[in-house]
Amino acid sequence: MKLFLDGHDLEYEMRALCFAFFPGEPVECQNTAAGGCPDDDFVYTKIKRHADNKISALVCVSKGGVRKCAAERVRVKPNERGHEFDIQCEFALGRAMYRAVAKITGFRHPWGILTGIRPVKLARARLSAGMAPDMAAKDLQKQFYTSKEKAELCVEAGILEEQIISLSQPNSASLYISIPFCPSRCLYCSFISHDVEKMAKLLPEYVRLMCEEIEKTGELATELGLRLETIYIGGGTPTSLSARQLSDIMSCVKKSFKLDWLREYTVEAGRPDTITREKLDAIIDGGATRISINPQTLNDDILRAIGRNHTSAQVFEAFAQARQAGFKSINMDLIAGLPGDTPQGFSKTLDGVLSLDPEAITVHTLAMKRSSRLVTSGGGYYDAEARDVNLMLSEARSRFKTAGYRPYYLYRQKNTLGGLENVGFAKPGFEGLYNIFIMDETHTILAVGAGAVTKLRQPHGDKIERVFNFKYPYEYIGRFSEILDRKKKVKEFYASYN
Ligand code: SF4
Repeated sequence: MKLFLDGHDLEYEMRALCFAFFPGEPVECQNTAAGGCPDDDFVYTKIKRHADNKISALVCVSKGGVRKCAAERVRVKPNERGHEFDIQCEFALGRAMYRAVAKITGFRHPWGILTGIRPVKLARARLSAGMAPDMAAKDLQKQFYTSKEKAELCVEAGILEEQIISLSQPNSASLYISIPFCPSRCLYCSFISHDVEKMAKLLPEYVRLMCEEIEKTGELATELGLRLETIYIGGGTPTSLSARQLSDIMSCVKKSFKLDWLREYTVEAGRPDTITREKLDAIIDGGATRISINPQTLNDDILRAIGRNHTSAQVFEAFAQARQAGFKSINMDLIAGLPGDTPQGFSKTLDGVLSLDPEAITVHTLAMKRSSRLVTSGGGYYDAEARDVNLMLSEARSRFKTAGYRPYYLYRQKNTLGGLENVGFAKPGFEGLYNIFIMDETHTILAVGAGAVTKLRQPHGDKIERVFNFKYPYEYIGRFSEILDRKKKVKEFYASYN
């Protein structure tokens, strides 16, 4: 498909819209100066500025021999230029493109013209400007053609996010500990995770060095007066490690950091086939307050097909063990749109998960990432329609609402089926704080381990700086002194804002 830009240079934004409306279609961008519109598929976008402080946006879409156009005029401030002007042009072109596409295909994307990963920010901006929740939702529908359901979801999540974020202080920080090992590779995963059995020889050294990195990071946090609010041990699958190794890491955290302000301590147990009572005891003794047990689906055939070597029965067992061990805050992750799943099948998964009554449930939309085996193994897997996935998400939301869960965290990812969202639901008081902090970039996240990325946030401002650790465990071990050396950047960053 050809994309023509006329009178503007919003190539990135127009490409993102083309991708949302025509997923998977390669887009070749051209300036209209290069020649007129061809006879085959194209999207033509034009901005014209008028003398009366108005712009007109025109979009013509040609697809499969049908050509439709839509236009709108928007008022801009006198002499407006730069970022604000571009935003007005982008939204006007987006709305015109949406209407032109709808005339051809009848398709109305539930997220309208929103292509960004954080639509909740738009809801929060409206709420903090003083709009009542229903007005904020209506405005999202009007400005961005977002469906009523998605607009209300955004506002609901935005209200809770705002309450949680507002408690963060300029010297707040969180700690992320990366355990990039898994017992086997799930078909849809493009995360850099390593087979724990193949890496067994490296593990003792990895844990030893990571404890050293935790100690150094703790010293830095104390020296900088950072107040640690959440800890997240994630992966991979942290419970791929032994109970002893988990204990060692968690004792090291206790020794190295001041935990007086800690509001949440999560261990992402992840795969039920790695969970044992001994490990759960180690995690709870280590100080964790929250655990995540992730079934993704409770359909055994699908679990097998996606390469997760566990059964639904193991999910129930792991959950019961976690309760017996004393966990009062358990999250469960699900995926909507797994190959072979249907709205009816997903509904059964919801029955099962709700019967366990966890404190939080996170529903992800399947993302087709380029390096995942689901994509690289070729056709035959992709049979879930985006419309069905949207039905699954809607059912989840309505059933969770009835059961007392509220959406508190929402983001969109590239390449999800139908461009649909990931949403965290929780019972009041059980929201996953770290999830919000990392997504919102609320405060500094100190990160340790292979593949970890420290995100530094300016104490009284918006500047973000990243410090990367090596991705692979063998690099992490082999070049560990460089990892410690890079920690200097944390001090330098805070010194530059003192
Ligand atoms: S458990 Fe998670 S990180 Fe590990 S392979 Fe599966 S999806 Fe990837």
